[in-house]
Amino acid sequence: MAGRNFLFVPGPTNVPDRVLRAMHRAMEDHRSSDFPSLAGPVLESLKKIFKTRSGQAFIFPSSGTGAWEAALSNTLSPGDKVLVARFGMFSHLWIDMAQRLGLEVEVIEAEWGEGAPIERYHEALAADKSHTIKAVLFTHNETATGVTSDVTPIRRALNDARHPALLMVDGVSSIGSIDFRMDEWGVDLAITGSQKGLMLPAGLGIVCASQKALALGSTAKLRRVFFDFGDMQKANTTGYFPYTPSLPLLYGLRESIAMLMEEGLENVFTRHHRLAEGTRRAIKAWGLELCAREPKWHSDTVSAIMVPAGVNGAEVIDVAYRRYNLALGAGLARMAGKLFRIGHLGDMNELMLMGAIAGSEMAMRDVGIKVTPGSGVAAAGEYWRSTAAPLPKRELPPRAPDSQPVQSGTKEKVTAGATR
Ligand code: PLP
Repeated sequence: MAGRNFLFVPGPTNVPDRVLRAMHRAMEDHRSSDFPSLAGPVLESLKKIFKTRSGQAFIFPSSGTGAWEAALSNTLSPGDKVLVARFGMFSHLWIDMAQRLGLEVEVIEAEWGEGAPIERYHEALAADKSHTIKAVLFTHNETATGVTSDVTPIRRALNDARHPALLMVDGVSSIGSIDFRMDEWGVDLAITGSQKGLMLPAGLGIVCASQKALALGSTAKLRRVFFDFGDMQKANTTGYFPYTPSLPLLYGLRESIAMLMEEGLENVFTRHHRLAEGTRRAIKAWGLELCAREPKWHSDTVSAIMVPAGVNGAEVIDVAYRRYNLALGAGLARMAGKLFRIGHLGDMNELMLMGAIAGSEMAMRDVGIKVTPGSGVAAAGEYWRSTAAPLPKRELPPRAPDSQPVQSGTKEKVTAGATR
């Protein structure tokens, strides 16, 4: 198909040209004397993305799932109890992992489309007087439902109960796109992957661990080899890895962090919010609902859009892809067929997103959903126009007089400053 593919799944996200170019290199010796000058600064600058001074960043050649496993296996022992809410596909998968690793998992079942049930976390922690709960697992942004939950109340719940459990936060689809403050929020293990806000291909699982979490390395008895923090720390202190790292991804990560820092993290978050809000205006104009039930849970990185009863959301996705070269996110597990998702994170601007909104609108009409043509595009466009930053004044060449039509055969006088 001619033209570019429009990638709007909530990860992998679009990789900026600058990052692609940074990754496009011949392979190098990862044990050379030059290698530490790449790895060391990347590990250090990751801390700025997580907003931590005292935490330590680890990069595993894996994905977000590997980072989940690293967080659990480096700090817990078989039979340890963890407390976690299930309110979407990704919180479900983390629960499944914890169970399969041999942990005792206290699951709080919650509605898919709602945020993490803070009150119930609070109750469970307050009731746990003997501190049998060793860790609280929390999904900051549930990518499956487009729901963001505030992390601060969960830290408050731990503090109120004077509970020593670790706080582990999955920030796979938030870190680098939505504000995340590891130190301020008292997060012990913060988890992400390379293919979302960090604008890279999949292939890196990234964890930041607090000093409290690191201290548990000597007592945690879950088996670990590949994901061992101790091995990684030993190698990282000299600037190396305990095994072969992905060179292109490290070069890419250095570039993507530089891009985020140049834009300024706070500006990155504001941009994501504005893009997400425009998308939400479009969804409203279509007369459709988000899966996220209340505005306080609306995600700035992904919108999960409920399709009307009787329509299969998978059809919208299939038509969008085959007819318009637009990749939208699917409904997962119990949301299969009930929704489609537009990922609006990473290297993204208004007109890129307009492509996804226009394409979704066309595909929805193709499968019989009665949305007014142009309604979403208009709503998003007007929102983005009305919230655009003012442009600095610029001197432009004057408009040519209307009364002097160009005669054929006469020499046209070129206005000063005009380009030819
Ligand atoms: N957690 C969340 C919130 C996710 O969105 C994902 C993937 O989309 C994961 C964990 C798993 O990450 P990965 O697919 O990189 O293993």
